[in-house]
Parts: sequence; C-alpha cells; structure tokens
Amino acid sequence: MLGNGALNYIRPMGPSFVNASLFNKVLNPRKATFQLWASDFAALFLPRRCAGCDTGLMRFERSLCSGCLRDLPRSRFHDDAQNPVERLFWGKAQLESASAFLLFSNSGMVQRMLHRIKYAHDREMGLVLGRLMAQDLLTSSRFKDVDTFMPVPLHRRKERMRGFNQSQVLVDGMRQVWDLPSTGRELMRVVRTPSQTKRGRLDRWLNVKEAFQLPDPEALRDRHVLLVDDVVTTGATIEGCVKALSVVPGIRISLYTAACA
Ligand SMILES: [Zn+2]
Repeated sequence: MLGNGALNYIRPMGPSFVNASLFNKVLNPRKATFQLWASDFAALFLPRRCAGCDTGLMRFERSLCSGCLRDLPRSRFHDDAQNPVERLFWGKAQLESASAFLLFSNSGMVQRMLHRIKYAHDREMGLVLGRLMAQDLLTSSRFKDVDTFMPVPLHRRKERMRGFNQSQVLVDGMRQVWDLPSTGRELMRVVRTPSQTKRGRLDRWLNVKEAFQLPDPEALRDRHVLLVDDVVTTGATIEGCVKALSVVPGIRISLYTAACA
C-alpha cells in the first residue's frame, strides 16, 4: 500500500511517459468535436485533481476547482504604473508596461499550478491559466494597444527535452480569449543557461544578457510586443530579451507573467 505522501509524489510524474506531441494533438481545444473525447482520454493519464488544492475535480471543472478559481491570489497590478513588477525593471530595461497575473501565496497554490505545467507537462493547466491571464489583462487600459504576443523562448534543446515551452502554452491559452498574433521563432535563445536557482543576481545577469538573438529585426518593426513568461523573479531573463529586441526600429515592449515572486 502506498501512503498519501507516495501518491502525491507519483501523481505529477503521470504524463511524462506519454508521447508529448501525440498528447498535445489530442488536447488541442480548437478541435471542438474531439473535446469531450480528449478530456476523457487525458483523464486516463492526468490526475483529475485540482492543481491548486488536490481535491477531486467535478466533470465540468478544468484543472482548477471552483473554490481555487474563486480564491486565486490575483495581483491586481495591471492599472498601477508603479507596481512591483514594473519597478523591478526601472533603470534596467525599457518596458512600456509590466504586470503579473498572480502573486505567490503562502498556500503554495500558484507554485503547484506552475509545477504542474512545467514538470508534469500538463498542457491543459497551461491553457486554462493562459485564458485566465488574458481575461484579467483585458480589463486594463494600459495593455490594450499590445499587438503581438511573444513567449519567452527556451533553448531548442531544452524545449525538445521538456516537450514544450511553458510560455508558449500560456500564449496559446491567451490567444483563445484575446485574438492577437503570436511570434514564432523571431526571438531565439542561443545560449543554453544552466539551472539558475542557485546563482546570484550578477551571475544570472552575465549568464542571460547575451543569451537571446533576433535574426530578423525588421519583422517586428513598430510592433507593441507583449513578452509572456510563467514567472518573474530577478528579471534577468527579461532584461536579456529586451536587450536583444531593442535593436528593432519603433518597437515597444511590455511584459506579462503568470506569477511574480
Ligand atoms: Zn482547488
């Protein structure tokens, strides 16, 4: 018999043995006729449990239970030009507007949601979160003239290993609500940065500031790009992106993350 602790350990690993591209195809929500079938198919592999609080989900619930959906720790930063995400980049990177959807809360709910996307490859959780992010940001006038979504890229090898880029999945979800084009490979991550969790800020900055390349700057001329990432902590990755994008004539750059520390 497995104790609860062991089950909790096993659950997030569930879908990792499933072929990622097959899995993503099956879960593509644009194929409406497959939707019910797909959710049943996915239920074979994904735990039908709330990513926030681990209670069992009702059939109509997607990734989050109604209680967690209601209690999401929203930042309510979007209309505040001096919010902490925006202040993080003052004097470091030229951003038009910046915000985060959620705050990391003491309950650990947000962390569990993000881990489920990143490490358990739960694409549906990513799409749900992306849709919520877009709905929330659309209420703000400060972001209304954004015209292109840009997921913060992963290095290709890392994306291949992981199966997908979590920022791209968030953008896919956002686009189901907010009908804007998304960039493809315009911005490329050319340096594979090692795990940054134990590095100091200076190290991280040196590590990522040259990590991005923009092969065709003209493709983004005069655009207002919304960079999208799962989480912002020190901001070093975003500074690297902004540095690479700053060569584009007439570009404006804003930032939106699923959560901020
Ligand atoms: Zn819940």
